[in-house]
Amino acid sequence: MISAERNIHGVSPHIDGLTGLPNKLGLNLALDDLSNVHLHGRFQTAVLMMDIDDLGTINSMMGEELGDQVIVDVANRVRSILPLRSYLYRFNGDCFALVIQVKRRAEAERLAQSCINLFSEALDVGARKLHVSVSIGVACFSLEQKSFKKITSYAESAMKKAKSQGRNRMVPFSSEMHREAHEKLIIRNLIPEAIKNSEFRLCYQPIIDFKTNKVVRAEALIRWESPVLGNVPPDKFISIAERTGDIIAIGDWICREACRVSQLLSMGCDQPPVISINVSPVQFLASNISATLMDAMDFYQIDSKNIAVEITEGLMIEDKTLTLKQLSELSEQGVTIYLDDFGTGYSSLSYLATYPVDVIKIDRSFIRTIEEDVNAKKLVSSIIALADKLDLNVIAEGIETPEQAAILSDQGCDLFQGFLYHKAMEEGAFLSLLAKSN
Ligand code: C2E
Ligand code: MG
Ligand code: MG
Repeated sequence: MISAERNIHGVSPHIDGLTGLPNKLGLNLALDDLSNVHLHGRFQTAVLMMDIDDLGTINSMMGEELGDQVIVDVANRVRSILPLRSYLYRFNGDCFALVIQVKRRAEAERLAQSCINLFSEALDVGARKLHVSVSIGVACFSLEQKSFKKITSYAESAMKKAKSQGRNRMVPFSSEMHREAHEKLIIRNLIPEAIKNSEFRLCYQPIIDFKTNKVVRAEALIRWESPVLGNVPPDKFISIAERTGDIIAIGDWICREACRVSQLLSMGCDQPPVISINVSPVQFLASNISATLMDAMDFYQIDSKNIAVEITEGLMIEDKTLTLKQLSELSEQGVTIYLDDFGTGYSSLSYLATYPVDVIKIDRSFIRTIEEDVNAKKLVSSIIALADKLDLNVIAEGIETPEQAAILSDQGCDLFQGFLYHKAMEEGAFLSLLAKSN
């Protein structure tokens, strides 16, 4: 058998116009061939789902034409090492599917690793050298065991895992992933009920001023006690709610709830701690979060300087205007804007240049290693110096040891959040902590 792409000439609905590879429709056509091989009983069908890392960023920074060229070049490099009995497809956008008959799973995994290694050298795109990488998920079964569609979806899950583990890697599908996918489905189905039945609550993690040892701010963190699943951490359900759109209702509720508590705080003291809420990128795009928050502040008669919004990277650069408009409105009203998890993504600096940020939150990953890793220490001190130059405040998050606090304080950072001081507390406990300290 030879590669499907080499059999087909001319334009057809099964061919992708950009790369000349068969497309998803073409992939379906190949199934007959695959089934024939399977009848001989000697082979397993492996699907390697390969996605170009960060093509969206390349498109938005350098233009779609260049992005297209990258897709073509990636396809060509992979073509150059295609073994016999393999089919390469443009699955969608920046994602390719490589289908191959193998005797052993290890063969498919080796091929995936070879594909990754292909990109250790930069691509020549126009006059530039561009470093790209790919993430690959590998699933391998006999067609007696699993349908081709199933194998493809397993490979896709594994590819997403490769992305979440840091990209530029190959991840074989495992039954653990199957379990995770199943759990995600359950969570997805339970969220609408949870919203209806008010199963969410906010907890508050104090932020301390190291110099005075006082609680000057607090981050509102969502908690979900599901009657079916027990405690589900936000890391597990927020991204799902973002995908389904349920984050809009959840986010609106968070705004109101944080404002209600802020009102309680301002009744108890002259200078109540600033409450920050985490706002998902999706909320800027699919709802008007600034209007929702301003309405809630009005309703509870909150001084806007007592509320802050934490944003993270992940807002697509194309959607900048909508996000910028809402953040500017909030900022003009006096709401403080924090840039959360600073330093972990690719565009922290462009965020600083684009959005009206007042506070940088240094990500926990830098703080965790600050005692033993000289580079982490230097990075943190550079972030603090940068913030100083830009007149921004800095909060260090994830402080767990007095030594970390001492290093940070020496470097000129005094706003600390972490288990060394407090974990996120229930509303009641938080209010009594403040009552005691005032
Ligand atoms: P984040 O916004 O960076 O929140 C800080 C996370 O770090 C919290 O985890 C907090 O409990 C944890 N943390 C704080 N100090 C320490 C420490 O010293 N050591 C360790 N190991 N962890 C520490 P949590 O509550 O599980 O939240 C995880 C993430 O989920 C948050 O990261 C945020 O991205 C998201 N999230 C939480 N609540 C909300 C929410 O209300 N809305 C949205 N959109 N996202 C939320
Ligand atoms: Mg946060
Ligand atoms: Mg954070």
